[in-house]
Amino acid sequence: MDSTTLAPGLVADIIARSETTGWEPWLSHVAGAAGCSAPVRLRGDLHTVNETTGQILSARSTDTMPDRVIYKACGTRRASLCPTCAKTYQHDAFHLVRSGMTGGKGVPESVTAHPALFVTLTAPAFGPVHTRALTASGKVRPCRARRDADTCSHGVRLACHTRHDEDAAAIGQPLCLDCYDHDAQVVWNVASGELWRRTRINIDRGLARVAKAHGIAPASVRLRYVKVAEFQRRGAIHFHALIRLDGRIPGDDAIIPPPAALDADIIANVVAEAAASTRFRTDEHDERPEGWLIHWGSQVDVRQIELGDDELSENHAAGYLAKYATKATEDTGHLSGRLTEATAAVYADPEGDHIARLIAACWDLGAEGGEWIKLRRWAHMLGFGGHFMTKARAWSTTFGALRDARAQWIRCQQEVDAEPAETIVLVNYLRYDGTGWHTEADALMASSAAARAREQRQLAREALDELNTMD
Ligand SMILES: [Zn+2]
Ligand SMILES: [Zn+2]
Ligand SMILES: [Zn+2]
Repeated sequence: MDSTTLAPGLVADIIARSETTGWEPWLSHVAGAAGCSAPVRLRGDLHTVNETTGQILSARSTDTMPDRVIYKACGTRRASLCPTCAKTYQHDAFHLVRSGMTGGKGVPESVTAHPALFVTLTAPAFGPVHTRALTASGKVRPCRARRDADTCSHGVRLACHTRHDEDAAAIGQPLCLDCYDHDAQVVWNVASGELWRRTRINIDRGLARVAKAHGIAPASVRLRYVKVAEFQRRGAIHFHALIRLDGRIPGDDAIIPPPAALDADIIANVVAEAAASTRFRTDEHDERPEGWLIHWGSQVDVRQIELGDDELSENHAAGYLAKYATKATEDTGHLSGRLTEATAAVYADPEGDHIARLIAACWDLGAEGGEWIKLRRWAHMLGFGGHFMTKARAWSTTFGALRDARAQWIRCQQEVDAEPAETIVLVNYLRYDGTGWHTEADALMASSAAARAREQRQLAREALDELNTMD
């Protein structure tokens, strides 16, 4: 849009809004969702209730509010759907991870002394792909340098001497699409959650074993973790997990230091062993009566980290996990919604490019029905149907708690005269009214108001930082 000439429709909407609700009351009404691209509109009654007596202190219908609805941010973690909400999700994810590393938000600071690991678990190879790897000194290696490279049955020489740029489209693409085992990869994606679950069980068994060997009751220690899933460029899922050893009083949720005899070396061995040994066979399938053998790739990386020692490294790990929690599938050029018979015909192509073949593999193998139907349900995610961020209870706080804290804060900003927050609860009877802003003018004004508010907060933070560094 040109800044000097506004579309006539937009001008009409701006005028209409100022004549009905007025811009200022409307902007303060939508403040909580202003940065969102596609807020949810809710209609109904909001009751303020005294928590102890149950007495209704006040009742308000959204009918009395601007547009007769309240606006709620969409809360997506996907930047392609809503950049602002994805940022908020990422921010929350960062604090979730971080408080489990450094203490705070209900986690004791003593966790910084617990043994901790940063673990990366990847899928095995399903065929050679173009890669970008660095040497120890940070130089880019040739992709696949083989002087005596084989030529596959499709006439493709399985070598590549290019040093690929970071964002080269070739990275993750098979050297030969026809040799690549697309079936095995999507089956691995769909089975990866189960592989992780079994690995966790084996890690717990291994921990119990080493605890006993050290004369420690297995019930007095527990591993807690937070895990994120990420798509590699080839479209296979992989996992990063932070794992922390806690002491435990059976029957109590408190986080206490573990016995000193179990150090990070011992835990790292337990995890590496479980990752190397965990494997299982899928159910049979018409395409492969013996099923597929599911196990981790050879690039299992188990790194010990110091939770409290180095502020930078712990922020790095937390930021890393939080970043991947939002990155999701956006790097692989996946599709945004579930496929139907009609859309599958458009996206799935067993003769097409890498992604089209993966989607085709999901669709075709999923036709078998039974448990395999998951492959169709998650075809748009290349078979992966799990959560992108999961954490053990008690790693730290929860997304819900952070959202509540934020909602509370926004309410406090709006109702300074309200009674102390701990005595009242809001009981809402709301129903869905629709999604999105009513007009382009509303969307524009809401997003610029949110941008101004962000700027103000940034300026306030900078001013505070300056004050703090003055003494
Ligand atoms: Zn949003
Ligand atoms: Zn290459
Ligand atoms: Zn080939």
